[in-house]
Amino acid sequence: MSEVLRIRFHGRGGQGMKTASRILGSAAFDAGFVVQDSPTYGAERRGAPLAAFVRIGRESILERGAIERPHLVVVSDDTLLDDPGAAPLAGCREDTTVLVNSTRELNIPPRLVHADFTAMVLERTGRVESLSTALGAAASRLIGLDLAECLAGVEHELAQASLDAGQRALNLELAREVYELGSSWAPVPWPEDEAVETATPAVLVELALDPARRATPSVYASANSPARRTGSWRQFRPVLEPEKCNRCWLCFVWCPEAAIALDENEFPQVSYDVCKGCLLCAHECPTQAFRVEREVRA
Ligand code: SF4
Ligand code: SF4
Repeated sequence: MSEVLRIRFHGRGGQGMKTASRILGSAAFDAGFVVQDSPTYGAERRGAPLAAFVRIGRESILERGAIERPHLVVVSDDTLLDDPGAAPLAGCREDTTVLVNSTRELNIPPRLVHADFTAMVLERTGRVESLSTALGAAASRLIGLDLAECLAGVEHELAQASLDAGQRALNLELAREVYELGSSWAPVPWPEDEAVETATPAVLVELALDPARRATPSVYASANSPARRTGSWRQFRPVLEPEKCNRCWLCFVWCPEAAIALDENEFPQVSYDVCKGCLLCAHECPTQAFRVEREVRA
């Protein structure tokens, strides 16, 4: 039998959910637990769904691989709830706690925790990557770690990131703020005497042996952005301010999803059906001609 707490993180490439899982894992390890932490990557692509798995126990952990029946699921943005490539609620138990970063009212019974963590991140650090700190701290709070343990996990992981001292301090403030917010959340109950979770052999064998063309046809196919509905991944929207544009077309060249076309006057035109919001265009534009707006869905 097993007393292992299973936590599954769901995010999009670039949102920092791998780091969030590491923050939780480090915090629990520093608190004296046995910890396992592993991500899945598959076909890497900024904005594409990914998952990371953390197991926390008091004794040796006998399980390996993906977590199929989580006690806690952390979702970095609510568009993942509708993305069949992510399926964050798959395998949820009746008592699974689901933590979602969202501005929307959600209906996920019975143990839902949701808040606009992105707003807290933007206000506190101004860097969307700090979502890893916010959700790592939130998960630490939910599984019952104390504030010092939570902050130790954040410090441990941020020490390995190329952040200056000012940003590290802001991230610690953010972690404190999220931890405080969690004072009203019901903690995730610690499991007792559950069966050891064994991965379904078919899942592991199929992924390991199938060629990429068969296992991930929608990713493998060229020009698949419209089929993959990459516009639904977007959290931030680039908006062109034409008066600043010198028509150098660098954005057109850099866009990884071919979401930018040129209009009849050779100004860039973004297709929001395809634009995944990676903001490479805004980053590379020499004249800062793209304004960045947060995408808020009703
Ligand atoms: S238009 Fe800009 S933000 Fe959208 S996918 Fe292309 S580079 Fe990324
Ligand atoms: S990179 Fe900037 S200046 Fe160049 S075409 Fe695109 S928006 Fe215009």
